[in-house]
Amino acid sequence: MENNTAAARENSRQPSAHDLDVLSRQLGRPVRDVVEIPARCVCGNPLVAATAPRLGNGTPFPTTFYLTHPVITSAVSRLEATGVMNEMNGQLAEDDQLSAAYRSAHEAYLAARDAIGERSGIGAVPEIAGVSAGGMPTRVKCLHVLVGHSLAAGPGVNPLGDEALVRIREWWTADRCYCDGAWDSTGEAPSKDLSRHGPQGLPGIVGRPAPVRKSATATEAPE
Ligand SMILES: [Zn+2]
Repeated sequence: MENNTAAARENSRQPSAHDLDVLSRQLGRPVRDVVEIPARCVCGNPLVAATAPRLGNGTPFPTTFYLTHPVITSAVSRLEATGVMNEMNGQLAEDDQLSAAYRSAHEAYLAARDAIGERSGIGAVPEIAGVSAGGMPTRVKCLHVLVGHSLAAGPGVNPLGDEALVRIREWWTADRCYCDGAWDSTGEAPSKDLSRHGPQGLPGIVGRPAPVRKSATATEAPE
């Protein structure tokens, strides 16, 4: 029985071709270097993607857990817009118990990333040893990262990710499916051929020249 459960968990972690298609639609861009699906909607669609700690092009990649479901992503953006990160940083400065738990979350993040690196055959990535994400271990800089970690790890691991999940309850809860209409499921998914233009988690614009703006004044301006 226990073995069956472990096997089921193992299977649900493996990204299927369908999962990768859904991820590309959720994000509106092709994904790459996704090695596991650590959290799923009750319907089975991915909520969080785990990216390899080293990308296929060799780049070390510290942000392991990436929130992909548009309903949760926008709920967390709304929460961030309320200034809750300042509030949480204040709590971290004042509450020793919370700051210790948050430091433990950072350690858990690193351990989970090491385990993913091991399972995916990538092994240790010394360039990012001790570096987690989202501002951990002492600051809160991105709630999407903390919520992604909480969903991947389950409750009780990341106190501030858990807190953020409580605060978005009005817009998203784990017990319901919010997938219907949340992304474009018609036509082709964003092309996998474009994936070389930017690793997941980085803006596609990185490395591209800035767009040239042409205007009457620009053409008349001296060099
Ligand atoms: Zn769903």
